[in-house]
Amino acid sequence: MHSRTWLATICLGLLASPVLAGQPVMSDFTARSGEPRAPEQLAVVFEHADLSFRVDPVHKSIDGDATLTFRALKPLSRLVVDLDRNYRVESVWVDAEPVPAGDWENPQGRMTVPLPVALQAGQSATLRIRYSGQPHVAKNAPWDGGFVWSKVPSGEPWVASAVEGEGCDLLWPCIDHPQGEPLLVDEHITVPAPLVAPGNGIAMGMEEHDGWRTYHWRARSPDTYAIAINVGPFELLSADYDSRFGNTIPLRFWYLRGNEAKARTLFTQFPKMLDFFEGTIGPYPFGDEKMGVVETPYLGMEHQTINAYGNGYKLTEYGYDWLLQHEFAHEWFGNQVTNVDWDDMWLHEGFASYMQPLYLQWLRGDREYDAWLLDQRKTLANKVPIVSGHAMTESDTYNGKTGPGNDIYYKGSLLLHTLRNLIGDKAFFAATRELVYGTQDPRPGNFKPRYASTKDFIGIVNRVTGHDYGWFFDTYVYSAGLPELVSTRDRQGLSLAWKASGDQSFPMPIQVRVDGRDIDVAMRGGHGHVDLPAHALYTIDPHSRVLRARPYLEAWKDEAREHARREAANGKSKQP
Ligand SMILES: [Zn+2]
Repeated sequence: MHSRTWLATICLGLLASPVLAGQPVMSDFTARSGEPRAPEQLAVVFEHADLSFRVDPVHKSIDGDATLTFRALKPLSRLVVDLDRNYRVESVWVDAEPVPAGDWENPQGRMTVPLPVALQAGQSATLRIRYSGQPHVAKNAPWDGGFVWSKVPSGEPWVASAVEGEGCDLLWPCIDHPQGEPLLVDEHITVPAPLVAPGNGIAMGMEEHDGWRTYHWRARSPDTYAIAINVGPFELLSADYDSRFGNTIPLRFWYLRGNEAKARTLFTQFPKMLDFFEGTIGPYPFGDEKMGVVETPYLGMEHQTINAYGNGYKLTEYGYDWLLQHEFAHEWFGNQVTNVDWDDMWLHEGFASYMQPLYLQWLRGDREYDAWLLDQRKTLANKVPIVSGHAMTESDTYNGKTGPGNDIYYKGSLLLHTLRNLIGDKAFFAATRELVYGTQDPRPGNFKPRYASTKDFIGIVNRVTGHDYGWFFDTYVYSAGLPELVSTRDRQGLSLAWKASGDQSFPMPIQVRVDGRDIDVAMRGGHGHVDLPAHALYTIDPHSRVLRARPYLEAWKDEAREHARREAANGKSKQP
């Protein structure tokens, strides 16, 4: 497998949560992220989360103290949050009044707390929960998430959390759903001195007392799973980036002591990536906070303004760090625009995956763009549509056996490449900009993090182009199989006909190169014809613009699988 297919599995919780020896069993409810929200969760605005974590690397435990402020949208008699029941809840308070232990309950990881006085619409209440215990330990972060308790070679603790797959409720009492973002988060992360704890958003200060340090961070509208713990003997690289939009963006990279030379080299890629994204998509969404990266003991994760980086400073043959670039793309596709449901996750991963060839097209040229797309093309399964049209959990979406799995990455990317060729760069980037910012004229200060669905994006494309592209999305997004272009050579020339899933109309124009000359075929009604001189040589879609079924690729993949199966069987039979 080409190393680049590693990117297939970034940010995903593909595997069911295994149980580590001696580790308490997580409830099924806690293991899943994106379950339908409780009516009480739908009835509030999550205004503020003030989160304190005391991280004890010796005992691999945390003490948590969360004060959550909710504003009611309708009359409300109780509050509901999600929290891993394996934590010991020390005390619960509503508006500074203790709630007796028998009054609240948390049977399966969804915690219900009665309000002493019911809230009317517009009124707010604060829920304080003090909890402690050993957080779930990741077996294989970031895919199987939780805490990673590692050590650097000199022995100091190196700790990181990654909870995308199972959700924020592994770390703090939250609303474990893509739309559960608090408007504002304060983090107070207490760690043994002199360890460093970089966090989301802006550094509000650090206090040292009794051999412990407390770092205070403040972030606006972070993704629920973007709130992350990072602790280690970090050194810091700092610089400022002068944006084309007139603002100055702080660049921050916390790297492990000893890695300074490699870290300095990687740090030179930060402004290049900002050049690309700001010039191609629009303003860096968190320019008033920072572009932040921290070295992690696992590969990577899109933690808002404190992206996890664990790619070991390896560059691809194209001379760039694909992991850093992929996670950074999520600041636009994931953290600025967030899917309304896990069913729309291709808006994060498909766009972020398309940003890689697009970055290479700018950085290196068309050959590198095409080469990266071709590698993505080889991976497609096309077994399940990338969007189901109904609510999904994270694991439903990422399970490649019963859900779309990696197709949300690479089929998403390739359909965006096809869309770009179909509607042209101007319309494509206008639609992308509006998806990300909700406006086609984003400037620092005139947009906020927002939610969007697949239907929202289709509506934007139709509005921007003035055409109905429902047929395009019906085929590529809501159908599993790829459209097939059937070509028949006869005496007159070449007859072309699209065969799309469910016999849908698929009027996708196509080029045919005939003896070196490119001819556009409109394919109205899904059919077209090209006159060919006798013995003419021709190539269909010579610039590889259209994603379509390629039976020879499937035959090659079947053969490779069969070969691997035979090798494995032979290897087994040679065992003594
Ligand atoms: Zn990703």
